[in-house]
Amino acid sequence: MQSENDNKNRPEKALGIYVHVPYCIRKCRYCDFVSFEKAPEDAYFDKLAEDIELAGNAFGNGTEYYVDTLFFGGGTPSLASAAQLKKVLDAVRENFVLREPEITIEVNPETVTPQKAAELKELGFNRVSMGVQSLDDGVLSALGRVHSADRARQAFHTLRDTGFENINLDLIFGTPRDSADESAPVQRLEVWRHTLDEVLAMRPEHISFYSLQIEEGTPLYKDFAAEKIQIPSWEENREMYHSAIRQIKEHGYHHYEVSNAALPGFECRHNLKYWTMQPYLGFGISAHSFMPVYGENGRLTAGYRGEAAWSCTGEPQSLADLKGDFIFTQLRLTEGLNASFYRQLFGEEFSADFGKALEELAAKGYIIDTERGVRLTEKGLDNINPVMQTLLEELQWKRNT
Ligand code: SF4
Repeated sequence: MQSENDNKNRPEKALGIYVHVPYCIRKCRYCDFVSFEKAPEDAYFDKLAEDIELAGNAFGNGTEYYVDTLFFGGGTPSLASAAQLKKVLDAVRENFVLREPEITIEVNPETVTPQKAAELKELGFNRVSMGVQSLDDGVLSALGRVHSADRARQAFHTLRDTGFENINLDLIFGTPRDSADESAPVQRLEVWRHTLDEVLAMRPEHISFYSLQIEEGTPLYKDFAAEKIQIPSWEENREMYHSAIRQIKEHGYHHYEVSNAALPGFECRHNLKYWTMQPYLGFGISAHSFMPVYGENGRLTAGYRGEAAWSCTGEPQSLADLKGDFIFTQLRLTEGLNASFYRQLFGEEFSADFGKALEELAAKGYIIDTERGVRLTEKGLDNINPVMQTLLEELQWKRNT
């Protein structure tokens, strides 16, 4: 396959780029992402292009980096006009070397028309991530989604008809549900299964399935605190999660991360960077970057993380923080944590750094040894926060002694 910018030099380090587009048609009731109910403003995209050009001086053309993933997230990036999106894409293409890039855009079904889909294709997006959340109108209404289940079905077919061959569908389980039937105020297992059955029949290349988080400050949180809404019990929630994993696997998907599954070869290359500590630059409001710093022996010595970290100014992250990030992200992968990668990055043995915590977690049945290192068990997947807490406490304890 022909790569973009084939005539440029051959840099060796892969880099991801994330662009945050913080505009939405209407705020969903559970949402705590940085997004605003307003039309996308040209000035925001002009600023994105400026920042991308500045970052290009350090990591773009003529440096050791090339871009292999580009991800437009939000908010609702598909709300932006073709001209606004093009402005940002042009800035990336002009300032960075792109090599066989995965170029993703998040879309809301309500924004997908044949014309919009054709524009996105024309602009060079080759992966679309659509926030469907549910194919049950009662669940969509309770979540405050702006689209209906039919609109989501239609949008998927429009994307397919336009020629998109790499589509992710985002789903949520464990939700409340608006219903005329007062005995059905929550998403029951069978409602969740119907959505999943239908989505699996649509055969998207990638499926993300998240348990609803009721975040403080959201309208859903206020209603929940005031006991105006209900959600399924913890047991029901876990049954939804584990039955989804079984169902997804039966249909040939690779469950590769706690909440993500893909047909073989369609794992999200961009998100894998977050989970394997690869460098990425984030642009726009609330976007984060991570730029690792390696010593002469090839070991990780520090890392810049945070907003505008592409400027690599300020205090870099310490080695201890980087180790914490490593376990936090690697344990989310179903293949688990890679101990030799840990050794390669930090020059130390994972088992020596976390021995006591590992023994404790194994005794509780939360983790299990693998050929590569350790991974979470089914019980561990249900208790991911206490697992992380135990590991981080050992890290903290070692740091203080
Ligand atoms: S579409 Fe996404 S980003 Fe926008 S309000 Fe809803 S959940 Fe939040």
